[in-house]
Amino acid sequence: MDLGLQGKKAIVCAASKGLGKACAQALAEEGVDLVITARTEKTLEATAHEIADATGVSVTPVAGDIATEEGRAAAVAACPAPDILVNNAGGPPPGDFREWGEAEWMAAVQTNMLAPIFLIKSVVDGMIDRRFGRIVNITSGSVKAPIPNIGLSNGARAGLTGFVAGLARQVVEHNVTINNLLPGQFATDRLRENFESIAKKQGSTAEEASEARRKTNPAGRFGDPEEFGHACAFLCSARSGYINGQNLLLDGGHYPGTL
Ligand code: NAP
Repeated sequence: MDLGLQGKKAIVCAASKGLGKACAQALAEEGVDLVITARTEKTLEATAHEIADATGVSVTPVAGDIATEEGRAAAVAACPAPDILVNNAGGPPPGDFREWGEAEWMAAVQTNMLAPIFLIKSVVDGMIDRRFGRIVNITSGSVKAPIPNIGLSNGARAGLTGFVAGLARQVVEHNVTINNLLPGQFATDRLRENFESIAKKQGSTAEEASEARRKTNPAGRFGDPEEFGHACAFLCSARSGYINGQNLLLDGGHYPGTL
């Protein structure tokens, strides 16, 4: 299927590694020119070269923290009229809610709720005027089934999900869609770090912690970031204009509900 994305322009946030990088790669394979962001300049530049060399599209790295106004302004300045926006950032740390004060909550809300909302605010009216826009927010399976020790993520991402549920219905008549992709467990650096921290607490190895978790998934494996990227490219495609306001869980069937 031709996704109809040749020559389009995208901002993909937090895209030097992991799920963001996979989304950037999949869009580049469809001929989309990219602005990609992350905080660490060196890794970001290496990723930009890698994707540009592999696909031939233009990839502009813009280093900065997407949770800050300056980071977001730099991304939008490099691509003021994007057709596609993929919102992403690192997830908040795990812990017990009794340990979290205002600083911890504000950091989670800034990063995982307000940053995507302010980026949407910056680009959505241009998308409406041009009568094409695809916005995808990378959230988490924890929005559908909360995970007890990541309450900061459960809370902040639910706030984003509630806000975009309303906005999606106000912009779709202009061929602008907003959807959320909810990762289950994908084999990225973040997942590997989680297993290292679980192993430390349990007194096991990271491999043992990973194996135990892998077996709980009906697919018997973790997700491949490439699979995530392809789902993102489809949601961003010219063919998906009637998919709007949805929360698509990509978890190999781990969530046990019928719906
Ligand atoms: P990852 O492999 O650790 O990659 C994170 C990427 O985001 C890196 O490129 C990182 O680069 C960048 N980044 C982090 N914070 C940023 C910020 N404030 N501003 C700009 N760039 C930032 O993580 P991942 O597994 O792809 O996860 C992506 C998102 O999905 C996270 O929010 C995570 O919580 C969520 N998620 C992941 C899984 C999973 O199984 N992998 C499951 C559920 C939810 P720099 O560090 O250089 O900035």
